Amino acid sequence: SMQDTPMVPTVHVEVRLKPRATARFETIRARISDWMLSFERINLASTLDGFQDIPDLVSVERVFVSEASNVQNSLRVSDITLQIHVYQPLDSDSFEEFTNSSGAKDDEGGDMAASVCELPNRSWEGLWDSLVYADDIKMKLLDYIHATLILSDADVDFNLVSWNRVVLLHGPPGTGKTSLCRALAQKLSIRLSHRYSQARLLEINSHSLFSKWFSESGKLVQRLFTSITELVDEEDTFLVVLIDEVESLTAARAGAMAGTEPSDGLRVVNALLTQLDKLKHRKNVLIMSTSNLVKAIDSAFVDRADIVQYVDLPSREAVYEILRTCLCEMITKGITVPTLKQAQMYELSAIHSPEHALGTIDPREKSKHLALRLLSLAAQCRTQGMSGRALRRLPVLALARYIGIGHLAPPTTTSGAKGNRKQHSGAD
Ligand code: ADP
Repeated sequence: SMQDTPMVPTVHVEVRLKPRATARFETIRARISDWMLSFERINLASTLDGFQDIPDLVSVERVFVSEASNVQNSLRVSDITLQIHVYQPLDSDSFEEFTNSSGAKDDEGGDMAASVCELPNRSWEGLWDSLVYADDIKMKLLDYIHATLILSDADVDFNLVSWNRVVLLHGPPGTGKTSLCRALAQKLSIRLSHRYSQARLLEINSHSLFSKWFSESGKLVQRLFTSITELVDEEDTFLVVLIDEVESLTAARAGAMAGTEPSDGLRVVNALLTQLDKLKHRKNVLIMSTSNLVKAIDSAFVDRADIVQYVDLPSREAVYEILRTCLCEMITKGITVPTLKQAQMYELSAIHSPEHALGTIDPREKSKHLALRLLSLAAQCRTQGMSGRALRRLPVLALARYIGIGHLAPPTTTSGAKGNRKQHSGAD
């Protein structure tokens, strides 16, 4: 363990400001700190309420207490160190694109080689929390970054301890790899704002970079890395580079060696690897890459990754959580009726309803019953090997089926209670 660090857990508090609100971040931080120190305990991974009544905090939109590794879920405020991060996400239109030839957009549908977005960005708000993994991949990634920061700060000799600032996430499609990279970039831009006044995410679409502009792509890779280097030269900016579908970039080298690809491909991959090696000495950059096919990736690339993380299809518990959050959103937005209200409706229609006789009217019973059904549904989804992406669209398909059998709106009357039962069968 580290000698100077007492075992006081640090809890990160993320304070989001309303769009276009003007406020002094320092004042907000101080007020939030005073306010939170008046609590006895706090729960991790929870949104706090009550700041709305404090005059200085009118510009605050949300106060979120983050999760932390190796601590319980509920902590005494006196036992922890609070680190308060105030941020104001930028609007989603702050994207800039790189194309095949400078300035001009691609006429054939705009396949962009890369795009840059300013962080923290509204587009990626909520993404981190929406991603559910059985083994704690999210904390593992944050802890890795933390470790590299400690080593950088201590100025350790790179000849003795070295790393590449490259992370590779691989696994089946639709398991949230790309989303996790973006969410991590967003998280870092919030967490590191005291070190870096700006943060950016540069996304490289390997597929369009490499396949479409094949003959040009040598130059394009050079140009991209020139831009990347320029971005990294701004020392108060933290840059996350996301290389999606990295196998399409690096498979070419294997092909070239087997003599099936033009040597162009080989040059590009070598250029990429050389450029990556140069970046490892820069403190303010992180390279995130994803792949659906780890076997197709050049081993020289895989070898450079500090973390090679397999991202699996969701476990039964993760499926449950994903479906539960889907349902909660449907309830929040008024598409589905919450259990308690449903139970009241059943009560209204009790005379006609067989549920009355079956005794499932008690809201708690009803809620447990639904939870069990959801769990068995989750087990089925798991058996079928459904991805997170497939799961998040299930409610759409369920609603489509519900509409298909003649129910356009959620039931509000006695007769609706019948419809509600049908909705369940639709969701099956
Ligand atoms: P990949 O890059 O692995 O193909 P994406 O990042 O494109 O996957 O995932 C698409 C969407 O699917 C995500 O934005 C998210 O809504 C959903 N999703 C995927 N995996 C998960 C997960 N583990 N937990 C929650 N949602 C998920």
